[in-house]
Amino acid sequence: MPSKLASLRLCQNNGEIDSDSQYMQAPAIAATPFSQKLQAPFLKHHISVLQINLGKICNLACTHCHVEASPYRTEELTPEICQQLIEVIDRFPQIRTVDLTGGAPEMLHGFRQLVETARAKGKEAIVRSNLTIYFERGYEDIPEFFAKHQVRVVASLPCYLEDNVDKMRGKGVFDRSIQALQWLNRLGYGSQPELILDLVYNPQLPTSSKFSLAPNQQGLETAYKKHLQENFGIVFNSLFTITNLPIGRSKFHLRHSKLEDEYSQFLESNFNSATLDRLMCRNQLSVDYQGNIYDCDFNQMENLPARSPDGEILTISKILEIGTLDIIQQIQTADYCYGCTAGSGSSCGGALL
Ligand code: SF4
Ligand code: SF4
Repeated sequence: MPSKLASLRLCQNNGEIDSDSQYMQAPAIAATPFSQKLQAPFLKHHISVLQINLGKICNLACTHCHVEASPYRTEELTPEICQQLIEVIDRFPQIRTVDLTGGAPEMLHGFRQLVETARAKGKEAIVRSNLTIYFERGYEDIPEFFAKHQVRVVASLPCYLEDNVDKMRGKGVFDRSIQALQWLNRLGYGSQPELILDLVYNPQLPTSSKFSLAPNQQGLETAYKKHLQENFGIVFNSLFTITNLPIGRSKFHLRHSKLEDEYSQFLESNFNSATLDRLMCRNQLSVDYQGNIYDCDFNQMENLPARSPDGEILTISKILEIGTLDIIQQIQTADYCYGCTAGSGSSCGGALL
């Protein structure tokens, strides 16, 4: 378990990102391609999670955002795709969880309808929330909406130090995040069993070749709980540690710092085959705002679509037409998959082991 001081250091030295202009160039080089590291075909399991990325509009524009979301983006779910998703949620009892992300999902077309549909069908509804949206005009009722529908809130708080959060996410974001967490607590989040509040920690982007994986999740959760309770009276359920994959703005930062290949090789050197069976891509369909299907949100951002056994690219309308969610056999991979399989593993639900 890290000491409080060690945990505080984990939040320091954020990498600065000054431009997005070059990062979509050639992929980073791992010594062994991820596909060759696999000893067996990387097969999909029975689908039980539908993760929907509703679009790229957000009230923030964080320096580390892998979606490149901002208030100036315009992409969001259309009414047509929203209806198709509602039909999928309605028709397939095997979907146990509907996981909504973005952008700021609360701002995007279809958000409330999708939550209400999922909950009416008895499914878990997860929202990946930036917390600050509750203070924007027109969204002040969001916390009460969450509580009413018992939405599981997974909120990013990459550090519990104000300077570091504001540097990554914008001035005043830490204060508003703390106020939002206190608001959720007043509604019963973090204390009532049906109102789950989880926080997400991302390690700092490296600024030198002294790389490290995310710290022990349980130890860091203890440190977060102590600090947030003692300083702000905040309670929450679980902390998820998520490894930075070399994609999106993280990839640009690494490339800009001339660390991209070294970081990929570091992740590869920590490859742990015990994580493979638990990866989130095994049982998930990830859908973008245009209805295209991927094995995970990372593949979605890197434009690596899921494919049927005959190589066809899949869409949500195709799923409705063929009448099964279990059409994908082989998961599409790339070398950034080493980020999910390093050490204790990483997923949208935190460490895997
Ligand atoms: S809050 Fe999330 S989606 Fe919005 S800019 Fe920040 S990282 Fe991106
Ligand atoms: S990036 Fe991670 S979740 Fe996505 S396919 Fe690779 S291992 Fe699976």
